[in-house]
Amino acid sequence: MKKGKKLYEGKAKIIYATADKNLVIQYFKDDATAFNNQKKSVIEGKGVLNNRISEHILSNLSQIGIKNHLVKRLNMREQIIKLVEIIPIEFIVRNVATGSITKRLGIEDGTVLKAPLIEYCLKDDKLGDPLISEEHILAFDWATKSEIETVKKMILRINDFMIGMFRGVGIKLIDFKLEFGRLKSNGKNEVILADEISPDTCRLWDVITDKKLDKDRFRKDLGDLIPAYTEVAKRLGILHEQSNLSSVNNITKLSSVKKKNK
Ligand code: UDP
Repeated sequence: MKKGKKLYEGKAKIIYATADKNLVIQYFKDDATAFNNQKKSVIEGKGVLNNRISEHILSNLSQIGIKNHLVKRLNMREQIIKLVEIIPIEFIVRNVATGSITKRLGIEDGTVLKAPLIEYCLKDDKLGDPLISEEHILAFDWATKSEIETVKKMILRINDFMIGMFRGVGIKLIDFKLEFGRLKSNGKNEVILADEISPDTCRLWDVITDKKLDKDRFRKDLGDLIPAYTEVAKRLGILHEQSNLSSVNNITKLSSVKKKNK
């Protein structure tokens, strides 16, 4: 599928038009940002890993009936996705308290929550993605009551599925961020899952050691981000054990071998 003009460039991804007005190409960059863009870096290979991990998770979610924007992965960095109107809210899902909530509310880091907690943040970089309530969403028409209800049900299913999927490979799903979009079909709007789900948007801790296998390695200057994301991909069975996959060069090699074998 031919890449058309650039429609949008975000912090970690670029969206390009295609010949089909309902489909766009999502390109995963290597750029890493944190603390509302104050910390920036380029981490070679991050985009490749996020593309693969997000593809894996979204296609598994499709199989359990969670509709999402992924059509198919095109190559190492690109996927074809359905064009949606993004709901301007970041839905944060927490199973264990860490990160911003611990500072905001004085909760001890690592506190296991008795039920998943959903928080809403307005998607607005200039304002620093402020925390908002359901009342704000309704007051300013960012989403309808029925959209919120639909999204909440989807979130709980996604969380259940992802907790199990990660638990099965020795990883605790601490928290994550989701985005949803409106898909126009037969004149009606349907809310579907959009954006990406990857170690950039989740907090993932090793079950035994609590080692961080996510973007906190960048936020907290822990180093070894690529080996950590590679570890997640390997455990999910996206990359195979036989080769020593510690670098993206290896991932690239593996992908071309797979293509040749097809
Ligand atoms: N998150 C994200 N994008 C954002 C904000 C948060 O993907 O713009 C994810 C983040 O990776 C974590 C979860 O949402 O998995 C909760 O993030 P938190 O609010 O604790 O963010 P912090 O301010 O600590 O980065």
